[in-house]
Amino acid sequence: MFAQKKQIATFDVIPLGVKGGADEKNLSAYLVAPIHTKDYICLDAGTLNAGIEKAIENTVFKVSTSEVLRKYIKGYCISHAHLDHVSGLIINSPADSAKTVYATKKCMELIEKHYFNGETWANFGDEGLGFPLKKYHFQTLTIGEETPVTNTTMTVKAFPLSHVNPFESTAFLIKNGDAFVLYLGDTGPDSVEKSTDLSELWKTIAPLIQSKQLKGIFIEVSFPNEQPDNSLFGHLTPNHLMQELHTLEKLAGKNSLKSFKIIVTHMKPPTKNMVKIKDQLKNQNDLGLQLIYPEQGKRFEL
Ligand SMILES: [Zn+2]
Ligand SMILES: [Zn+2]
Repeated sequence: MFAQKKQIATFDVIPLGVKGGADEKNLSAYLVAPIHTKDYICLDAGTLNAGIEKAIENTVFKVSTSEVLRKYIKGYCISHAHLDHVSGLIINSPADSAKTVYATKKCMELIEKHYFNGETWANFGDEGLGFPLKKYHFQTLTIGEETPVTNTTMTVKAFPLSHVNPFESTAFLIKNGDAFVLYLGDTGPDSVEKSTDLSELWKTIAPLIQSKQLKGIFIEVSFPNEQPDNSLFGHLTPNHLMQELHTLEKLAGKNSLKSFKIIVTHMKPPTKNMVKIKDQLKNQNDLGLQLIYPEQGKRFEL
């Protein structure tokens, strides 16, 4: 009869794309909304249309592709400007409705300079090169500053990640009420990147794990353990992920990650490598993590 603090789902998640390369119809893009709402923020936008169609096939959505794109997706948070994280946004921009694109300064500069520049593509934004069509509001996020996600009850806070130092990627901490999810764009391990970005991020979020307010972490594992450190290209392997999460556990307390939800993103084809990654993570899961492998167009809750 008393409210149980644990295990109350607070977020709706619908992956629109989950892979880390090659398959252009299934690249990083995750819809996240406060549960039982249709107010989605799209975290990265590698694939949009093919993912929405898959979700409709699965009866996750009962409206048209166009309606999901135009009405349900309230905005985009782009972690970095690599094409596998923005190509869906670019290609679907003519069919999209007015909304906000959120990115840190460097990422926004690259998007404005190379994509929405009036040359390689029309400028659908409200600043930058060429003739700004002002469909999208390009909102630059200040690192560590809580920013409202327009037309939702959520806020977003950006943190830097190292993705082949000094090239930056971004982690987004999404908040709704007193609940949080953390989404990491592509990132290498601190040890290889010669960076402290991940350890700083772990320090920031450790209290949210202790208080059980953090409902899950989306984090990449691009390659199996066989990939040598000098060929990681700013990505993680199962070994490196587990090492990073051990650092996090030290900060949050022993057994603090038991049953904690880790959503594994950005596995790179071929399929045999993806199978290997899953096997290796399973065998190395001494923290007791709940490992979740998102599938395109399949809804889950956090
Ligand atoms: Zn990527
Ligand atoms: Zn990348």
